[in-house]
Amino acid sequence: MADRDAPLRLLSVHAHPDDEASKGAGTVHKYHLEGVRSTLVCCTGGEAGEILNPALDRPEIAERLPEVRAEELAASAAIIGFDEVVMLGYRDSGMPDTPANADPGCFARAPLDEAVGRLVEVIRRERPQVLLTYGDDQRWYPHPDHIRVYEVSMAAVEASADADRYPEAGEPWEVAKVYWSVWARKRMEEMHRAFVDNGIESPFDDAWFERPSHDDRITTTIDVDGLYEIRAGALRAHATQIDPESPFWFGLPDEVLATIHPYEDYIRAVSTVDADLPEDDLFAGLR
Ligand SMILES: [Zn+2]
Repeated sequence: MADRDAPLRLLSVHAHPDDEASKGAGTVHKYHLEGVRSTLVCCTGGEAGEILNPALDRPEIAERLPEVRAEELAASAAIIGFDEVVMLGYRDSGMPDTPANADPGCFARAPLDEAVGRLVEVIRRERPQVLLTYGDDQRWYPHPDHIRVYEVSMAAVEASADADRYPEAGEPWEVAKVYWSVWARKRMEEMHRAFVDNGIESPFDDAWFERPSHDDRITTTIDVDGLYEIRAGALRAHATQIDPESPFWFGLPDEVLATIHPYEDYIRAVSTVDADLPEDDLFAGLR
């Protein structure tokens, strides 16, 4: 049974610095304003990322990219309202079929048991009721580290509750609810329509709309209306990764972007508590 008097805690597991800004930033901020403790686990340092902002594509920045990305992550996490950032300590595996894949220290090549053990330790220390991670279907963006985040998260939730697994990693803890972050098709459609309505060339071509839609699997929608500045501020904090001129992220005026699909969508993958679907609160059934 869930302890309804326990302080609420949320754990987000992401692959790279900047993923916490593009997935769930408004959700985490909303709960932060309610006093929910939020912890971010970032599995890799994002070392394989390229500098995607031409204004910052300079040798002195490229040389110290890992440090720059750590600074960007700290700035983004502060804007979003994470209480703590835990680095799981793996190297970025790079995009599929790139040389970074071969690095033995990369996240995708790390022994599964070892990575699961590291996450179990964080879960048992933080004791979150709710864990946010990535889903089982990543065909539209098959980054090896994102697929690994899913595998490690689901295995760690199961292992964390089992006293016989990783006994050295702390007292067992059962995570009550697990959610998978979804980029809704509805969001893309609204964005595309806004580009057309504003007479701006849309970056969403047919290929975008041929990607599999997960909208029919969405169980849980969080209203993040009014939190656009937080979401955009966190993205902009990742200045080497997010080009402020990118049509995909910032091709529309801020006042338009603020009104587009002001929701963040999730698939509820695990729940040990009674909470009817659809939901508008990750902690439904826990308070
Ligand atoms: Zn990523």
